[in-house]
Amino acid sequence: STPAAITSGIAAGARRGLLIKGGAALETIGRVGAIAFDKTGTLTQGRPQVTDLVSLTGNERSLLGMAAAVENGSSHPIARAILDRAASDGIPLRPARGQKALPGRAAQAVVGGKLIEVGSPRHAVESCGPGNLPADRITTLEDEGKTVVVVLADTQPVGLMALRDEPRPDALRGIAALRQLGVRSVMLTGDNARTGQAIGRKLGIEVKADLLPENKLSEIAALKVGAPVAMVGDGINDGPALAAADVGIAMGGGTDVALETADAALLGNRVEGVADLIALSRATMTNIH
Ligand code: ADP
Ligand code: MG
Repeated sequence: STPAAITSGIAAGARRGLLIKGGAALETIGRVGAIAFDKTGTLTQGRPQVTDLVSLTGNERSLLGMAAAVENGSSHPIARAILDRAASDGIPLRPARGQKALPGRAAQAVVGGKLIEVGSPRHAVESCGPGNLPADRITTLEDEGKTVVVVLADTQPVGLMALRDEPRPDALRGIAALRQLGVRSVMLTGDNARTGQAIGRKLGIEVKADLLPENKLSEIAALKVGAPVAMVGDGINDGPALAAADVGIAMGGGTDVALETADAALLGNRVEGVADLIALSRATMTNIH
């Protein structure tokens, strides 16, 4: 291939906020058959809000105070949402010790002598069995596209919280642009299938849900059928997935980790930038052949 064409392709990208790390990445991106997207912060705003608080024991303020104590110090978007809600409701944090993250599942800590866990319904079912959870309530909230977390005290459910993370308007346009280019888009999420599908319907994207972090890597491997696969993420929790794809694309200003792991970065915080990258690659390679 022609180094001059590659160099000018990379320069043309840089002028439009599409940073590409080298000729191999520029060449590969135009040939991808599928793009895997991280959900939170990439297809959604990444700033969930607590919309529903359901105490199973009767005291919403104490539920929120316990959950916030568990999430204190975590940078997970769900943790930030719960801490923000406790602060805006004026609920003081209770002392907690032994804070621990179970990635893709839950956060836990000891509060008031009890092991308090805030986590996915699946995690709750594994702890307390299915019988003790208000399944209809959870289903209704999830069908509204909300993420439900269950609060457990010594493995018994004491409450639910639902959180809404709005889809990004540019995600809808970006996925439509990729479809026009003949590229398959798939959303990978640790969220449950109902929530994932509700968001996927709004965005017109195929959904793989209920994925633990390691399952995201095997989904990426499974998408590599006959053509390379790209992964788009905001770099929060998705460094390994960016690295597992043939082309890792960091979006959203990007964390340092994302920019180190990724093959390309979109400075403008727009999903349409992914389609722009593909078009740029195809135009550059056409000039060469
Ligand atoms: P995503 O794929 O959206 O990045 P994660 O893999 O981080 O999601 O988490 C998957 C699910 O695990 C969340 O929807 C939530 O139910 C649960 N979870 C993970 N971390 C936490 C946390 N810090 N607090 C509460 N729940 C959590
Ligand atoms: Mg993310």
